[in-house]
Amino acid sequence: MTAHAFPAHRGVMFYRGLGHVFPVYRGIMFYRCLDCDAEHGTEDLLYTCPCCGGVLLLEDRRFPELKKKGGAYWRDLFDSRAAAKRPALRGIFRFYEITAPVLEEEDILYLGEGNTPLIEASPALRSLVGRAFAYKNDGQNPSASFKDRGMACAFSYLRAAARQRGWDEVLTVCASTGDTSAAAALYAAYAGGPITSAVLLPQGKVTPQQLSQPLGSGARVLELPGVFDDCMKVVEFLAARYRVALLNSKNSWRILGQESYAFEVAQALDWRVDKVCVFVPVGNAGNITAVLHGFLKLHELGVIDALPRIFGVQSQHADPVYRYYAAPAGEREFRPVQVTASVAQAAMIGNPVSFPRVKALAERYRAVAGERAFQVLRVAEQAIMDGMLSANRHGHTVCTQGGECLAGLRAAVAAGLVDEDESAVLDSTAHALKFMDFQNLYFDDAFPPEYGVKADQALVNAPELLLSPEERKGLDESAFVRESALRIARRLGLTETTGGKC
Ligand SMILES: *Cc1c(COP(=O)(O)O)cnc(C)c1O
Ligand SMILES: [Zn+2]
Repeated sequence: MTAHAFPAHRGVMFYRGLGHVFPVYRGIMFYRCLDCDAEHGTEDLLYTCPCCGGVLLLEDRRFPELKKKGGAYWRDLFDSRAAAKRPALRGIFRFYEITAPVLEEEDILYLGEGNTPLIEASPALRSLVGRAFAYKNDGQNPSASFKDRGMACAFSYLRAAARQRGWDEVLTVCASTGDTSAAAALYAAYAGGPITSAVLLPQGKVTPQQLSQPLGSGARVLELPGVFDDCMKVVEFLAARYRVALLNSKNSWRILGQESYAFEVAQALDWRVDKVCVFVPVGNAGNITAVLHGFLKLHELGVIDALPRIFGVQSQHADPVYRYYAAPAGEREFRPVQVTASVAQAAMIGNPVSFPRVKALAERYRAVAGERAFQVLRVAEQAIMDGMLSANRHGHTVCTQGGECLAGLRAAVAAGLVDEDESAVLDSTAHALKFMDFQNLYFDDAFPPEYGVKADQALVNAPELLLSPEERKGLDESAFVRESALRIARRLGLTETTGGKC
């Protein structure tokens, strides 16, 4: 079924507003190997370079033609498209021409992803941190994490491929720290038809909420003892030998979709990002790859005239990318690390598959905007939890990885890395509710020692029982109401009202 089946959208076809027609532009997409520079066609779904095994990124051979239109043209087009009523253009494909301009409208799968709000830090939180900043709430995506951006693109590509080639069976697989599987299972469940989903999880290393998601979407949920890195090796082995569609971020179509995060940040700031520092948690490094690539594209098109600065943030318990960049330039060597328990569990990865992409793009980024334009910070588990809870006490809804970003901003301010006239955008990559068990552990001050997190009582909160079940037993309805209200008034120090009686 296509979006056209809805009568409400049929009328839109007659509206000729700039942003409301489906784009006619079609690019020529190809995979580029970041190691050997080889180019490969997109007839097959590739994860690594057939020549050298290197990682790939998707590019459009016609991109130079897009540049000729000038930045103002694209800003106007993307701005007008923000009001588009066609479902296919309401999410990440607002930026169709610079995303995957080979997909037809009927193939685009839109479940409400993208276009997430950028919420300024409350004045109190801002003064606590010492810089102006905002959270981009990517937890407000359909499966409650940014992974939906990439899945919308990857599944749209799969639907196009299945339609064009008459595939009658497409089994998607992924390894996951929780959110990739939630997103993959959701999009597969909606797409239906030839597309089905199996997900591989490290047993006990995803939150109960994350586990409930692929189960509820009807995916095959497979578990192994170990950590994410183990599961990743298994699905890579599987993808090399069997006919499956790998949905990890090795799949470059996912990176393309996730670039929309950068496009939306720039657009929300009216395309002026020169004094902006963007903080991103780094796990498998797909997200930061997409953010770097996305901003580079906007800059090349002239849509933005300066690049924002990018700060990757890692936990001390999973810090291979930090370690790489902390070494002096001549002595850098990438070494995977053995991860230990981390509250930023969605980023608890010791051997990020996208590291070579980050390395290549960071070089390009720094060549344009200088050394300070790309940095990686490391923060303590304690700072991550304190960051999450402080943000949420000030009206935000951030996950532990969002807390990691705040910890990163605080560390950067303390180290003098963020100027006073700069502001920051922090990625809350998932919804707070997915990570409530960590909040509970904190409030109960019951973290297992390997986390190294102690409760700061100023951040702890707990429910207060007003009346025990035994106390309630002896009371009739009106006595119960009176007694309960009295106890509330006493606890909260309420003053009795006088007057107002008729
Ligand atoms: C996947 C994920 C990350 C890490 O992103 P990478 O692309 O793996 O670096 C961070 N936070 C959340 C909530 C995630 O789901
Ligand atoms: Zn290659």
